[in-house]
Amino acid sequence: MPKEIVLANPRGFCAGVDRAIDIVEKSLEKFDQPVFVRHQVVHNKKVVEDLEKKGVKFVKEIEEIPDNAVAIFSAHGVSKSVEDEARDRKFMYFDATCPLVTKVHLEVQRHARKGRDIVLIGHKGHPEVIGTLGRHPEDSDTNIYLVENYRDIKELDINLKEIAYVTQTTLSVDDTQDLIKALLEKFPTIIGPSADDICYATQNRQDAVKQLSLECEVVLVIGSNTSSNSNRLKELAEKCGTKSFLIDGKEDIDVEAIKNATSLGITAGASAPEEIVQDVISFLYPLGYQSVRNLSENNETMTFKLPKELLD
Ligand code: SF4
Repeated sequence: MPKEIVLANPRGFCAGVDRAIDIVEKSLEKFDQPVFVRHQVVHNKKVVEDLEKKGVKFVKEIEEIPDNAVAIFSAHGVSKSVEDEARDRKFMYFDATCPLVTKVHLEVQRHARKGRDIVLIGHKGHPEVIGTLGRHPEDSDTNIYLVENYRDIKELDINLKEIAYVTQTTLSVDDTQDLIKALLEKFPTIIGPSADDICYATQNRQDAVKQLSLECEVVLVIGSNTSSNSNRLKELAEKCGTKSFLIDGKEDIDVEAIKNATSLGITAGASAPEEIVQDVISFLYPLGYQSVRNLSENNETMTFKLPKELLD
């Protein structure tokens, strides 16, 4: 029986990841100072390793960045206190926060200004969530609450009449809709974005992996285990009843587990480079996967501008 690879579309890099990596690379090209990035610029092992080879230093906190360096914040966004500290230190810094995360930051600030308590749906400890929580103004009379699941919603104790919700950008679309429904049942007047704050890239990759899961016996999701949207793709494929593996690259492929699949689906999280997809395809060729089919066209056209100081 001939074996085939089916490629999801869209897959891999989104506009926010492209921009964040460009910011780091252009900073390396343009400035003589060392380039430091606070947190992994995007959650992908290969991207980080490649940038490290070019001389970029990744640190956890801004205190670790020397005064003479160029500092960059990761695509996940930072709390206001981190930005304030960078400004106080007076070093050159660039904010690689994805504009779609910044949009959520602005929503938090707007709701707080209007006197609304805010419920953030997101994963505790994820850098994007830490950054978004840290955008709630310290001097506000309102509060911000993080919820991850139904239990958290049940336990929410909010007395303010005005309540709003926002969401992390890389969540499961279906699970988030269910949580929003639960919020609306508990707080019928709660307001939020027209649907949620899940970004176009997360939404499109989830739609594509659903389609892929219907056609394939196994789905390989290329992405690092720190990547929220890659994890959601694996979970979604499994929810659709298809065996799925999250792999950083060809070295993680469990050949025994996939060898009997006649159709093997491949997708990649928003921070995973296409180079790894092609590498995986080459690795699979001698195993009999010699035909490659695209499931659909990639119609994504979104791009985000670089900071003006980095434009050529
Ligand atoms: S996954 Fe979405 S929010 Fe995250 S960087 Fe890409 S476009 Fe921006």
